[in-house]
Amino acid sequence: MQEKQAQTQCNDPRCPVHGQLKTRGTRLSGLVVSSKAKKTAIVEVDYTIYLYKYERYLRKHSRIAAHNPECINAKIGDTVSIAESRRLSKTKSFAITGIVKPKAA
Ligand SMILES: [Zn+2]
Repeated sequence: MQEKQAQTQCNDPRCPVHGQLKTRGTRLSGLVVSSKAKKTAIVEVDYTIYLYKYERYLRKHSRIAAHNPECINAKIGDTVSIAESRRLSKTKSFAITGIVKPKAA
């Protein structure tokens, strides 16, 4: 996957590209469904689970709060890759590492 990398410098210490934030563990990609909060985006990640009883897949999704550094500044509709990090706030323990696909025109 071609990822749009953050171009400009930023002074955000929690930026995974320019700051000190280390990422480890889970890496996911999902759709930004809200970017209202300051430097935070809500990323919806789709996944499937297999139901043996019905021999079919069940589609599910989870909403993950991720740090949205100024140099990436993901907006609603963007597909982003996120990486797990240390806990940044009560609900935030992921950071956006890049935009996989900007909002479809
Ligand atoms: Zn940055």
